[in-house]
Amino acid sequence: MTRVVILAGGVGGAKFTLGVRAALARRGEPEATVVVNTGDDLWLSGVRLQPDIDSVLYALAGQNDTVRGWGRAGDTERVNTELQAWGAGWPWFTLGDLDLGTHLARTGWLRDGLTVTEVVERLAARWPTGVRMLPMTDAEVDTHVQLADGRRMHFQEWWTRHRAALAPVAFENPGIDRATPAPGVLEAIAAADVVLLAPSNPVVSIGPILAVPGVRDAVRAARRVLGVSGIIGGAVVRGMADVCLAAIGVDTRADAVAAHYGARSTGRLLDAWVMAEEDAALAPAVASLGIRPVVAPLWMTDVAASAAIADAALDAAARDR
Ligand code: GDP
Ligand code: CA
Repeated sequence: MTRVVILAGGVGGAKFTLGVRAALARRGEPEATVVVNTGDDLWLSGVRLQPDIDSVLYALAGQNDTVRGWGRAGDTERVNTELQAWGAGWPWFTLGDLDLGTHLARTGWLRDGLTVTEVVERLAARWPTGVRMLPMTDAEVDTHVQLADGRRMHFQEWWTRHRAALAPVAFENPGIDRATPAPGVLEAIAAADVVLLAPSNPVVSIGPILAVPGVRDAVRAARRVLGVSGIIGGAVVRGMADVCLAAIGVDTRADAVAAHYGARSTGRLLDAWVMAEEDAALAPAVASLGIRPVVAPLWMTDVAASAAIADAALDAAARDR
């Protein structure tokens, strides 16, 4: 039996989780646990949004909009139009009608006193997701961006309104020092045969999860830890993760991100690093860090492709055991 825990952000994390789910099902292995970033969360127009939780949930449930890349398939924007007419919310941030249903349900349950973990459990109970979903923490630790010009703003404003164009110097999660991992997170990592770091944004998706006190140490103590590169051929696949990496002094290169996570043999995280064929020339550099390079096709074009990546990671983990 192989017990797998995935640390994941939103869209990249969701695609990877779909692949792991398929690979494990084919192998007759138990369902994976996915620990999802909640640093992207925000309050807007009176409701609580959890973009990464929803991206993973909608994808696992087959309810995601695969064309647009985010939100619910077949969504409309009637309420959003009305909110904008009122001047409520953020004009650059679209809230779909079906999506708002999720946010209203979540906010109501939070107001009733449920924890984030309990809310996620209720949301996930609607569909057979085939994965156990956990938020990284029950605490509110929304990511803020410190800008080079001295300003500071919520991550979502920086990312969505400014398209990451304002130079950042740091990403912070106020209150995270006092946060605790959500119930079940440390237990799942301790029981795992393999912990997989999804090819999610290392800074604002995986970063906050590892920053919840206790999580990094738990991962470090896990049986096997493998990361999957979100960089292919020296570029982030889609989006603006390179800006985040630059802000923390990490080059947009597969070996640099591997070095950022570091080798377990040096007291850091990784046993192995699954990197793209396009970056095969960097495999020796990764090996010299004390991290075993695993070169594979890394384009998550469909579930089969993502499952092949999961297979490469699971096979490498089994080989090393
Ligand atoms: P977000 O929270 O929605 O931004 O999504 P994540 O943080 O989970 O994932 C974003 C990252 O996924 C990006 O930085 C991309 O580099 C990576 N990514 C997206 N598509 C692919 C793909 O097909 N293959 C790989 N290896 N990485 C991908
Ligand atoms: Ca995200």
